Amino acid sequence: MGMSIFALFAANAVVLAVIAVAFYAAWLGQRDERHWISWIVANLVLAVSMVFFILLPEDRGGLQIVAANALMVLGVGFRWCAARQFGRRPAAVAIVVAPALFTASLYIMPEMLSHWQRFAIINGVMMIISAATCYEFFRDRQDRLLSRYGLVAAYGLLAGGFAARVVQGLMLNSAITNFLPEDPMLLAGVFGALFHTTASGAFALSIAYERSAIDLREAALRDPLTGLYNRRAFENQLKKYLEGQAAFAVVILDIDHFKVVNDRYGHAAGDAALCACARTIIRTLRASDFVARIGGEEFAAILPRTSAASALEVIERVRSTIAAQDIVSHEARFRVTLSGGVAHSMSGPSDMDALMKAADAGLYRAKKAGRNRIEQAAAA
Ligand code: GH3
Ligand code: MG
Ligand code: MG
Repeated sequence: MGMSIFALFAANAVVLAVIAVAFYAAWLGQRDERHWISWIVANLVLAVSMVFFILLPEDRGGLQIVAANALMVLGVGFRWCAARQFGRRPAAVAIVVAPALFTASLYIMPEMLSHWQRFAIINGVMMIISAATCYEFFRDRQDRLLSRYGLVAAYGLLAGGFAARVVQGLMLNSAITNFLPEDPMLLAGVFGALFHTTASGAFALSIAYERSAIDLREAALRDPLTGLYNRRAFENQLKKYLEGQAAFAVVILDIDHFKVVNDRYGHAAGDAALCACARTIIRTLRASDFVARIGGEEFAAILPRTSAASALEVIERVRSTIAAQDIVSHEARFRVTLSGGVAHSMSGPSDMDALMKAADAGLYRAKKAGRNRIEQAAAA
């Protein structure tokens, strides 16, 4: 085998192993992310496959070619598995292993297939798996992780490379006289593989960190119990609306006598009531409304481009829906009511404090007036 091919196979093996170590380091920091294991296994299997390519005998046959090709298919299969797991989808081990066993079986009766047929079939299998991996990264593109496009490109090009080999295998036909044709295509292919290994490794690492940074940022803005935004997120959002031009309404809702719920039915039932209220508020308001849990049993919402009158109307609907719904927690079945205050950005001074105070004043009036009602802030 030519020296440059040999060096490229060796470089591939080294880079695969180094990136496997980087994946291992990433896994140490994210033990619950199974895809790291698959990335590591894929790289190690592929590295061993490269070693078998280096060890090919004179006719490039023998057990080495079987091992080299079957392990390569297995490694590509584990890449697909990792992509599935990264997308939080199941990946059956059988689907990963079957193509590799199929590849090995192509050598059981060598005379059944010509070299070029076998060559085309194996490259076809790897083309399909690479294209499927490319698709796994492509299908979740709405999450806007930029590294995703690096992976789509890396696996798309890989699939294209294998496709070129299939075409070559079919066209060369009888011209292939041994188990691995050594030609400029092989050089290009192994060089392409090195490029792919580097790019896909770098992007696999960066996409994982991109996603965990976004997850952390998102988690910092969420209330873990109800999944609603928290007070910090609410204040950020309110600031943005105050800087904008459009009019909007602000609502504060507070569960009535919530202490009694906790005392009578237990804290878990109280939590269930909070979640039920959160769900109903989200369901009743529009998708463009911003809903948060700003305190223990206090919710707030921003209703963009909504008049005070229609805000009152829609919050009244939230109130009556919640008042009419049974909350079930273990043995307990009960109802809760809410009081609320509504303020509007166009009535009176509108900085954050003034607006929240106005909504709070409405809430206070609602409580005073007997609870289970919504009040507008009195005109200043
Ligand atoms: P009011 O009608 O005047 O609003 O009376 P209230 O009992 O609802 O108001 P108060 O502020 O006195 O009590 C709020 C209660 O909410 C006290 C607290 O134990 C409970 N609480 C706050 N956060 C949580 C939570 O996350 N889960 C549960 N189960 N209870 C909570
Ligand atoms: Mg309260
Ligand atoms: Mg309360």
